[in-house]
Amino acid sequence: MAYRAGAILRDMEMMQFHPTTLYIAGASRALITEALRGEGALLRDSTGKAFMKKYHPDSELAPRDVVSRAILDRMLKTGSTHVYLDLRHFDKPHFAKRFPLISEICESFDIDIATDMIPVRPSAHYMIGGVKIDLEARTNVPGLFACGEVASTGLHGANRLGSNSLLEGLVFGKIAGQSALMWLQKMAGPEYRKMTIEIPPSDRSRLDTEDVRNSLRALMWRNVGITRQAKHLDEAQEIIRFWQRYVMDKVFERPFGWETQNMLTVSLLMAQAAAQRTESRGVHFRSDFPERDDAAFARHIEQIRENA
Ligand SMILES: Cc1cc2nc3c(=O)[nH]c(=O)nc-3n(C[C@H](O)[C@H](O)[C@H](O)COP(=O)(O)OP(=O)(O)OC[C@H]3O[C@@H](n4cnc5c(N)ncnc54)[C@H](O)[C@@H]3O)c2cc1C
Repeated sequence: MAYRAGAILRDMEMMQFHPTTLYIAGASRALITEALRGEGALLRDSTGKAFMKKYHPDSELAPRDVVSRAILDRMLKTGSTHVYLDLRHFDKPHFAKRFPLISEICESFDIDIATDMIPVRPSAHYMIGGVKIDLEARTNVPGLFACGEVASTGLHGANRLGSNSLLEGLVFGKIAGQSALMWLQKMAGPEYRKMTIEIPPSDRSRLDTEDVRNSLRALMWRNVGITRQAKHLDEAQEIIRFWQRYVMDKVFERPFGWETQNMLTVSLLMAQAAAQRTESRGVHFRSDFPERDDAAFARHIEQIRENA
């Protein structure tokens, strides 16, 4: 919505992945906290082999993006949809006391941590990029303020550290509220602008938005996921543009359809920004440009709607 209103978006290629989400077909993707690896849990591939030592000297304690990429690599090499988190050496009563939520989740799926390993895989977790704001939480659109995950403050660099999002929300939430109040107080009176958008009638029944959304999810995971490369990013843009031709001119009765339109818009922007950043930095990893390129890319990528 902010993009449509003419706001500048920034760092849209910076999507953080969480390495360990519960992977059980049909079950919701509960997060399996990284604190478990801090306590000594091991990652094993589908053949039972512990693999993190091979990928990073800190093994299981390597940064999030490194662990996510290592898991993905093991999944590809073993042809499996997931890896495992091994807690079998844990003291079970201590585990239940220290991690009651995870203990409950495991029990609900009949996973006995003394004998079973927890199936996990990475998943999209946190959007570092978003609507560009200044230190007063102002966007470039007069009267539009942003804070929280939707905003791009620059505080997280290219790789957010755990827990900083809630702090950011607290700090910038307060600032945004104050700035909005000040802006209102300065206004002489309410200014309303009526907007009319003409959408040509089209045949709604031919569009299965649920199908578009599922396909979009799969496409983003495959082509704009943890490891990216030019060929896949270009293909993603092409496919999204094709879907947009069928979705963007429709009028929907339920939010689901509008949300699908927004998802297509955001996805295209992410794919475009990821294609533009021909280097690897933080959460953005390009297999065709695996090195960091400060000379060309120690900067943000900004996007704004045409004719905004
Ligand atoms: C599983 C998980 C664990 C996490 N753990 C941590 C952690 O330990 N520490 C940490 O710092 N961060 C953590 N994060 C990240 C952090 O939780 C989020 O970044 C943060 O909650 C974002 O807050 P927000 O208020 O910006 O957005 P949200 O919490 O997403 O709030 C946005 C709100 O807007 C509402 N909304 C959306 N569209 C509309 C609309 N059109 N009209 C009206 N309302 C609308 C939504 O319903 C929602 O209530 C975690 C994230 C996940 C997914």
